[in-house]
Amino acid sequence: QLILAIETSCDETAAAVIKDGREILSNVVASQIESHKRFGGVVPEIASRHHVEAITVVVEEALEQAGQTWEAIDAVAVTEGPGLVGALLIGVNAAKAMAFAHGKPLVNVHHIAGHIYANRILTEFQFPLLALVVSGGHTELVLMREHGSFEVIGETRDDAAGEAYDKVARTLKLPYPGGPHIDRLAHEGKPTVKLPRAWLEEDSYDFSFSGLKSAVINTLHNASQKGETIAPEDLACSFQESVIDVLVTKTLKAAEQFGVKQVLLAGGVAANKGLRARLEEAFGEKKDIELIIPPLYLCTDNAVMIGAAGSIAFEQGRRAGMNLNANPGLDLE
Ligand code: ATP
Ligand code: MG
Ligand code: FE
Repeated sequence: QLILAIETSCDETAAAVIKDGREILSNVVASQIESHKRFGGVVPEIASRHHVEAITVVVEEALEQAGQTWEAIDAVAVTEGPGLVGALLIGVNAAKAMAFAHGKPLVNVHHIAGHIYANRILTEFQFPLLALVVSGGHTELVLMREHGSFEVIGETRDDAAGEAYDKVARTLKLPYPGGPHIDRLAHEGKPTVKLPRAWLEEDSYDFSFSGLKSAVINTLHNASQKGETIAPEDLACSFQESVIDVLVTKTLKAAEQFGVKQVLLAGGVAANKGLRARLEEAFGEKKDIELIIPPLYLCTDNAVMIGAAGSIAFEQGRRAGMNLNANPGLDLE
């Protein structure tokens, strides 16, 4: 079974060919980071224009690198949402046009289901499993009892983890996207700055990062008013410790409560070295829980993950019609 997958929800134009849901035949990602950097974030209008320019070439490249022609493709999978509406529309319309022109079925995929299914490239899923989704727009604990079923047991009440990273980075005058820069700085510093951890209610698996973000901004502001300086690497390290403490503690607790067989890490912030190390430490002693952490190229946005999720959806019989539309607020459940 060969799936051609397309992803354009944010600022990467991506296409991939996936065999049997788990084998990568090609993986093409055209990143727009350079175009958005000077604005300090993704500019939706610019993102859409880049997607229009890149999509045809990226799909052709994906087929060519896979050594496949349209004839061999069984279905086209595409990100339906969530994401930027104008960006999603380019992928959805390209997928519709290509599926129609080549007489292939079309399969709609949820972007976060994609981030989760990136893990299935590494190993077969064993249910129940728990996914910690940490990305630019989402921070969620997702329980899966079978393929294609997603139960959100906790989510952020304000900022996503990646969003907090990017905002704190901007405060420290680091380039966009700030996550990797904070990560790098954090390893050069010490957690000497006292920052809050939002545990919320005792039995809650929800998250909150806006208070932490404000605390970082206030700390810098107060220091500068007193004419003091705080080493940016120490602040980055303290911020990262606070984020990781909460993420790892809640993931561990949920994994035990729901008796899961696997814990998966997913989303762009899954690239974070500190988070990866702390999860490995926490789950290293738990012999009955397998921890799966994707390689970096499967953490940030790509089409491999859309193909992996699309493959299962295709097997389960999901088909989208030619009336498929972009859905920027699409619900995972
Ligand atoms: P979503 O998936 O929720 O729709 P998105 O697709 O924009 O959002 P991703 O591409 O999955 O988000 O992830 C991008 C985010 O990951 C950015 O906020 C970025 O700063 C963050 N990120 C990337 N690498 C790291 C890192 N090493 N440490 C922390 N954050 C990181
Ligand atoms: Mg991105
Ligand atoms: Fe994403």
